[in-house]
Amino acid sequence: MTDIYKHISQTLKALRKERGWSLDRAAQETGVSKAMLGQIEREESSPTIATLWKIAGGFNAPFSTFITDLRADAAVSIHSSGKTKAVHPADAKLKVFPLFPYDETLHLEIFLIELLAGCEHMSSPHKPGVIEHVIVVLGSMEVLVDGTWKTLHQGEGLRFSASQPHGYRNRTEDVAVIHDIIHYGSMYS
Ligand code: MN
Repeated sequence: MTDIYKHISQTLKALRKERGWSLDRAAQETGVSKAMLGQIEREESSPTIATLWKIAGGFNAPFSTFITDLRADAAVSIHSSGKTKAVHPADAKLKVFPLFPYDETLHLEIFLIELLAGCEHMSSPHKPGVIEHVIVVLGSMEVLVDGTWKTLHQGEGLRFSASQPHGYRNRTEDVAVIHDIIHYGSMYS
């Protein structure tokens, strides 16, 4: 098992302990099965990014908590893209790199995401008040918002409420790279 699985496992166990939640309770809150949560804690299974989002949402924790142990502890930090690899084979076409992990003062986290050719990733709704800003830095891709796929070209951006089902896809034959800035309002303060 790689460090990322270990980090996810330890984070999940720590959050569950902090809340005083049983596996049953955690399953209820996250919508992820008790069996799967147990496997993740024992490092027997690697969660998909979609599953990780469900877990983060259920625990009311920022997504980047699960994929990096870097804490944004200063106003100036150097981005660390390249350190985190896809954690599950199902996400082979979607690579998520925490650029700036969750910042408790700013209530935001910033990811660099690579969508390889043919990538399609659906996201379940995040908590109310969560806003995403997708900005294309390379290539072209599409974002599903309000049931419609909107095409974004290099240099274009889209801001949308992420408390609804949404998705990201790349139907071109080249890699697309985006920045995803996720703003959580004041929900964790
Ligand atoms: Mn999302």
